[in-house]
Amino acid sequence: MKDLNVLIEECKKHAFDLNFTRAKDWKEEKEGRVLVGYMPIYFPREIIHAAGAMPVGIFGGGDDKQIIKGDAYYQSYICHIPRSIMEIALDKHMDHIDGFIFPSICDVIRNLSGIFKQQKIGKFVKYMDFPQNFLPEIGGVFYQQEMEHVLKYIKELNGVEVTTEALNHSIDLYNKNRQMIEFIYDIRQEHPWRLTIEEVYSIVRAGTVMPVEEHNAILEQVCTHIKEDIGTPQDKIKVVVSGAFCEQPALGLIRAVEEAGCYVVDDDYMLGSRMILGDIDATTDNPLESIAISYINQSQFSSSIYDVHNPKENRLAKIVQDRGADGVVFAAASFCDPSLLDAPIFQNAFDKMGIRYISFQFSENINQYKVIKEQVGTFSDSIKLWEDEPVVV
Ligand code: SF4
Repeated sequence: MKDLNVLIEECKKHAFDLNFTRAKDWKEEKEGRVLVGYMPIYFPREIIHAAGAMPVGIFGGGDDKQIIKGDAYYQSYICHIPRSIMEIALDKHMDHIDGFIFPSICDVIRNLSGIFKQQKIGKFVKYMDFPQNFLPEIGGVFYQQEMEHVLKYIKELNGVEVTTEALNHSIDLYNKNRQMIEFIYDIRQEHPWRLTIEEVYSIVRAGTVMPVEEHNAILEQVCTHIKEDIGTPQDKIKVVVSGAFCEQPALGLIRAVEEAGCYVVDDDYMLGSRMILGDIDATTDNPLESIAISYINQSQFSSSIYDVHNPKENRLAKIVQDRGADGVVFAAASFCDPSLLDAPIFQNAFDKMGIRYISFQFSENINQYKVIKEQVGTFSDSIKLWEDEPVVV
């Protein structure tokens, strides 16, 4: 078993590699291999794996990529992530990726799929609609058709006809992946000092750019390490971070929230890797239906899902309660419509529920965190000094 620090450094190297080197190496190891890039938030990676291809998460350039050409494709008053994705593409960092999937989340991502088509980036570009109807016979069937469409694209590249066995095997691997990630979050709920949120983030993000088998092997070792009583507890409040599900804050900002006095015990940074709660049934004759049903019945709350019978403010409040958090840090990317439109809904509800919160906006390339750190530090101090009634949902 590798040392924990070695594992974390390996994960950081892969997670922020804008050349997607591990994916490129994987492709070159065997002729005919296919890489499929997907944008945030969520995509059922199982189906790509089952088709003999490798899913590659594309989460923008962070604070590592200077934007020059990407700005020319977008007006100034939208978020940053599509510009940096364009910059990465135009700088040919993604030339080895064969096809691209743009899950429906907002108009910006939809338009980005159009630009990829226009610029002829990749051998296929698929804008993938996710169901907003939560009846299995309507939304569930629609979702299966969308997945079949993706599989058709991959088959045109590698000739692989996906079997039930292959799909169930892939579902099983990703079930294990989600189980271990949740184990890490569960351990941190009580012992957040065993692994910082910066480390958790790097470990989870690394899994989006390497084969799931390799990521599972890393997660197994991390889980073993953090069962031990390592690290030193500090006097910090516990918070849930919400709103940063698409464009990602720079690692320094993720670190700054904890340095300002908050243990982050849950978040939606890498929401796609944790979107499905619990296992997907890997024993049926119709695995695509299992994936669709799991999306309908077991999805995390998300700004991209309109589930009128299951209000997202209650779902976020439940996470706060289940994690024993003292409050919520709303962190939205500047100009992120889905996140910023949800903010008043959450905040009105939380005022009534007595859940304390603070909010700020960021962009993936900001590297001055002083103001945000002071704001979050004041939030933490105010909770420590003026303890209130426990949260009741
Ligand atoms: S950051 Fe927000 S607005 Fe921008 S692409 Fe993502 S979801 Fe859309």
